[in-house]
Amino acid sequence: MNHQQFENFTASSLYCEKCKAAMPVRERLLLVLPDREIFDYLCTGCGSSVGRREVTAGEKLMAEAMARRRPRRSVALQ
Ligand SMILES: [Zn+2]
Repeated sequence: MNHQQFENFTASSLYCEKCKAAMPVRERLLLVLPDREIFDYLCTGCGSSVGRREVTAGEKLMAEAMARRRPRRSVALQ
């Protein structure tokens, strides 16, 4: 199982004001913009939003490349 790269990419737990503790979070895609995507982090305990993250197109490509160990075809970037 290759979870290490995934953990680098997503926050696994954040402090929740309601739960008064660091809680595991769920990532939800909030908004898709032409050059970035905005993710919302939801506490798995109470469901409230505890954080937000912006991923630019370049970061997303890198993260996807790391998450996908098997490229289906080689794409030359630039
Ligand atoms: Zn909570």
